[in-house]
Amino acid sequence: MPTETCYMVELCIQTSRKCQVIDLTSQVTEAVNKAGIADGLCHVYVSHTTAAITINEKADPNIGVDLVEALNRLIPAGIWQHDKIDNNGAAHIKASIIGPSETIPIRHGQLLLGTWQAVMLVEFDGPRPRQVVVSVR
Ligand code: ZN
Repeated sequence: MPTETCYMVELCIQTSRKCQVIDLTSQVTEAVNKAGIADGLCHVYVSHTTAAITINEKADPNIGVDLVEALNRLIPAGIWQHDKIDNNGAAHIKASIIGPSETIPIRHGQLLLGTWQAVMLVEFDGPRPRQVVVSVR
């Protein structure tokens, strides 16, 4: 029986603004290259409750600006029960809507991202240090 192996790398990302979209595609691609797996899956996960992982267009940075602005309009700050505790209820809701992870297929050693797709960390309550775990198997 072959041994099931998983290559994992932790990325430490320091965000610099309250809300921010950061392209992680080059770091994720590097992890896949180091894993040396021909066909499999790459899982990208942020281990926080006020940040998220998404896949969207990289060519126009306004996509990220629009994503943050749309969520700001949908989910206003300062009106949630959790705001009584640490005043970031909106950030928790936004993070849950986007979600903490994405899974990308790997074929012939390459991430199966479309031409315009990028893997992005979305910060909703920065600036903070964020841990992102990339698992490849
Ligand atoms: Zn909180």
